[in-house]
Formats: sequence, C-alpha cells, structure tokens
Amino acid sequence: MTSVFKSWTKGSILITDAGWGDSGKGKVVSAFSPKIGAKIIGGHNAGHTIVTDKGEFGLGLVPSTIISPKTFNIIGQEVVINPLFLIEEIKSLNKGGIAVSPKNLMIDLRSHLVTPWHSIRDALSEEARGKAAIGSLHLGVGWTFSDRINRRGLRFTDLFAKDWKARVKKEFKNQLGVIDDAKLEVKRKTGKKSKLERKLKLSEIIKIASQTRRFLAPFIGNTLEVVWKEIDMGSKILFEDSHGAMLDVSHGSWPFTTGVNTGVGAVQRSFGGKAVRSLVRIITASKAYQTRVGGGPMPTEDFGEFGKYVRTKGGEVGTRSGRARRCGAFDIPLVSYGLNAIGAGKVDEIALTKLDVLTGWPKIPVCVGYLYKGKLYKETPRVDALFLSQVKPKLVYLPGWKEDLTKIRKFKNLPKAAQNYVLYLEKHLGRRITFIGVGKHKDSYILNG
Ligand code: GDP
Repeated sequence: MTSVFKSWTKGSILITDAGWGDSGKGKVVSAFSPKIGAKIIGGHNAGHTIVTDKGEFGLGLVPSTIISPKTFNIIGQEVVINPLFLIEEIKSLNKGGIAVSPKNLMIDLRSHLVTPWHSIRDALSEEARGKAAIGSLHLGVGWTFSDRINRRGLRFTDLFAKDWKARVKKEFKNQLGVIDDAKLEVKRKTGKKSKLERKLKLSEIIKIASQTRRFLAPFIGNTLEVVWKEIDMGSKILFEDSHGAMLDVSHGSWPFTTGVNTGVGAVQRSFGGKAVRSLVRIITASKAYQTRVGGGPMPTEDFGEFGKYVRTKGGEVGTRSGRARRCGAFDIPLVSYGLNAIGAGKVDEIALTKLDVLTGWPKIPVCVGYLYKGKLYKETPRVDALFLSQVKPKLVYLPGWKEDLTKIRKFKNLPKAAQNYVLYLEKHLGRRITFIGVGKHKDSYILNG
C-alpha cells in the first residue's frame, strides 16, 4: 500500500504521537497541504516549532498547516484558548510573513477560554502540593479543562452573547469562591496561609473580554458544520494532535498525563464520531530516541553520556516551558503500547524524526523489553506511573554511523547502519516507517514506501 505521504487523494488523516509528545509533529504536518487542517486538542502549554525558509515559527494554538497557503485552518472545540495568547500568535505570524485572517482560520464557538483565574488556581494547587509540586507553568490549561468537564467557565458563545457582561460577572463571582476554596486547601495541606499575592480584578477580566470580542469575533464559527460538510465531500482533512498517547488521561502514564484524551479520542472530542470514521490513515510521529518533559517515571531515561549527547545535539528543551527534556533509548514496549492505544494498525504509518541526532554515537541503545518481577515483557501490559516506576529496561545496542544525514533524501543513500536501525524499529513495532526526519528544516526528510 502506497504511503499517504506520497499519495493522498481523499479522506482524513490524523497526525499524533505514541509517546509523551514533542516528537516533531509540526514538521510532519508541514509535509502536507490539505484542504482543511484542524487542531483537535490542547492549549497554549504545548507548542510546535517549524523551520522554514522564512525562519523559525513557534506555534501554540494555530494549526501547523497555517504555513500551507492552500489550507483552511480550524481550531476545534477541545482546544482551550487563552485569547490574549492567540491574538499575539496571530499578530506575530502575520508579522513573520505567514498570513492569518478569517479567510484561513476559524475557531470553534464552543471552545473554552483560559482566563486569569485558571492561572491563579494552577498556582494555588501547586502551593498546596508543597514539595510534591509538579512544576506546572501556571498557564491554567488543566484547570480550564477541569471547568469544561464540570460544566462551568466561559466559552466564546458567552463572550458573543448580548448579555456577555452579565455572564462574565457571574462567572467572575463563581471563580472567586473557587479561589477561596483553593486557598483553604493550601492552609489545610501545608499548615500555612497561601503566599499568593495575585488578586483577581473584574476590570481586568472585562478588558480581556472586550479585546477578545474586538479582535477574534470574525474568526469564530461553527467548525463542526465546516468539517462535517467537507467529510461528506471526501475532502482532504488533516487532524493535528498536540500531545501523545502517554499523555492521554485514560490510556497514558497516569497520573502524569493531561486531563484529556489524545489521538483518535481527541478527534472524537473536537469533531465527533463522524470525523473518527472519516480517518483513512493515522501517522504516528516518534523520535529516533525517547524524551519526556516534566515528572513521572521514564524507563529508558539515560543519566549518562548518551542522554546528554542527544539532549544537546537534539536541542531537547521544551518549546513553551524552556525546561530540559529527559532523554534516553528508544522504548519499543512503550511505543508499541502507544500505537495500540492510538489505534494505529498495520496500514498506518510511523514518521521517525530526528534520526540525524543519533549520528556520531557509536553503539545506539534500544529498549526491547521490560523486566518486571523477574519476568521479561516484550510488550508492556500497562503504562501507568506505578508500573513504569517498577520496570527495568532490557537494552540492546545497535551499531551507529558517523556520516552526516541532513542532505540525504533517499533511504538507500543512508549509511547501512542507519538503514538497519530504522528497519530494526520497523520490524519490532510492526508498522511501516514511511517518513524519516534527518534535519531541522521542514524539508529535511526521506520518504520510504
Ligand atoms: P512537536 O511538538 O511534536 O511539533 O515537537 P517540537 O516542536 O517540540 O519539537 C520539534 C523540534 O524538532 C523542532 O525544533 C524541529 O525543527 C525539530 N525537528 C523535527 N524533526 C527533526 C529532525 O528530523 N531532525 C532534527 N535535527 N530536528 C528536527
């Protein structure tokens, strides 16, 4: 079966990630120019970086397909929006020469708004955790999802209603109560009064709401109507994930996950079952090694020279967080589990990114199984944090290569050892690796198959 990178005529594809995110999905997305590019999940805590001839673009909420002039871009309802961040992002893309206007971007009217009270609640919940704080960036994304599930908070529909000011005031009052409760929680858990000084002001919220109404109004619409109509026409639609299977609240490394579903689950959350049924192919982006940002167990984390090598060479620092990513060997049991959780079958494809980063490392470690209570598991039965913290990775070492890969565009021109590395992963993962990233630039890749 021909790879969808080479031949995609109709139907939808999903680009997602089998691990903890940050696998270079932005670059994989930029290999396509679909009719519709739709972001399915996330907030401004996740980000993609795309390197083009015009420079390097950091994308937060706007779909990565924005760089394709032919694509109409959509932000689905399960993307929570910090409106000031989005306004800045749109302005900065326009400044950088990437045109963004209502002609090529629509935001769903049901999306929830990330508001200053979410950042305050984020900070308070971290304070209540004391030494066990998880290092949240206080962006308030998780708390916005929590409000969405608890059926409160503000959505664009509230801001564009006639009585918008009354709605904002009502929610402001609600949130003051929630914040008071969170402060009591800090006292109860730490024994000390909260040190947080930031106060919520109604005038600040009204100002943000007015700015949002002025700037974003022409972008707001019913994205379901557009997507469902295009599905019926068989149009090419690309659904873009912001996270990865390990960050899925149901299937990931709980509790170190997001509060939402990712992958196919996120397609469902933003665009419903009709969109899930329209998928003709799933592409899972995966780095040629493993990384993870933030807390929680990572079985192949390498505290030695290999970890340092790929972190430095691969520039493994979070786009938004600025935090160094934890690095280690490619984890076959974990990625295999992620592929199953995503629903990636034999027809589906893997985009292996950053193979060039491994250049120069003599013997490349790969994890082929987990040792757990004296037994070797080639496939992991679980990925929750408790289980992952108890396994020991079984590593094999594959020969490395020294040649620079960045200019290579054909699989057969890769050094034999690099070819063997890719084929080894392909065999053990049981899915085709049809895209191989060999450099930072958006066009630095090899298509295979
Ligand atoms: P995403 O969130 O999954 O899009 O990943 P990030 O944007 O956090 O990280 C992607 C980074 O890796 C960007 O700086 C890309 O330019 C870079 N990148 C993507 N693919 C490759 C590759 O094949 N080789 C190298 N060296 N860098 C790559």
